[in-house]
Amino acid sequence: MKKILIVTNWKLNGTKKTIKKLIKKYKKIINKTKNIKIIIAPPLIYLDYTKKKIKKINIELAAQNIDLHLSGAYTGETSIKMLKDIGIKYVIIGHSERKIYHNENNNIIEKKFNLVNDNRLIPILCIGENYTEYKNNQTKKICIQQIKSILKNTKKKLIKKLIIAYEPIWSIGTNKYPKPKEIQKINKYIKSYIYKKYKELHNKTIIQYGGSVNINNFYEIIKQPNVDGTLIGNASLNGKNFVSMIKQIL
Ligand code: PEP
Repeated sequence: MKKILIVTNWKLNGTKKTIKKLIKKYKKIINKTKNIKIIIAPPLIYLDYTKKKIKKINIELAAQNIDLHLSGAYTGETSIKMLKDIGIKYVIIGHSERKIYHNENNNIIEKKFNLVNDNRLIPILCIGENYTEYKNNQTKKICIQQIKSILKNTKKKLIKKLIIAYEPIWSIGTNKYPKPKEIQKINKYIKSYIYKKYKELHNKTIIQYGGSVNINNFYEIIKQPNVDGTLIGNASLNGKNFVSMIKQIL
């Protein structure tokens, strides 16, 4: 059985009460999942709280974002050093909601990616095309362009793991998604590109899929040979459904 990495992005949702409840549900499947690793990305303000709640459970944490700066007069921001300080290992970078609502472009994403990597944390890099690009058969080209531009100055030797989530922008929170076979083709293409271009990343590369993954399509998507995991947003907020979803691959 292949290894599977599930990242759950809770976005701007939750309270201490709902997080406590959700973790209780997640716990039900956690110890049955030898080949499955789960990483939760709660809102930044709840990272520390969630960390306490997952003590002794085999779950790790990711931040949904970081600032470009390490410290200083940047009101409202959180730095990579602060995340490191509270023991966070992963950071989501390049999420389409940050591109859309916070104008993050490839230049900013590249800087954030390298900041995470240089600080020996692990970026979870989201890439993907918009709907017009999808319709015009440009997905492969767009994904490779994004990877090239973001990794061009990365210190490859420092990469502990290269986690890429192929997330078509038009799929996020829309209940629309490519056919599982299309996802397989894109993930395979991305993986072959990375293997060819960066030989040193062979055993370190994980290519996930994200975008409207739910209880009905999860199994079809995850069983594709080049889908190494999923990044799940909305569907990870319903504990009962999330547990049923994961049970499909136990
Ligand atoms: C996401 O936030 O990365 C995501 C894939 O969201 P959703 O599952 O809600 O489409």
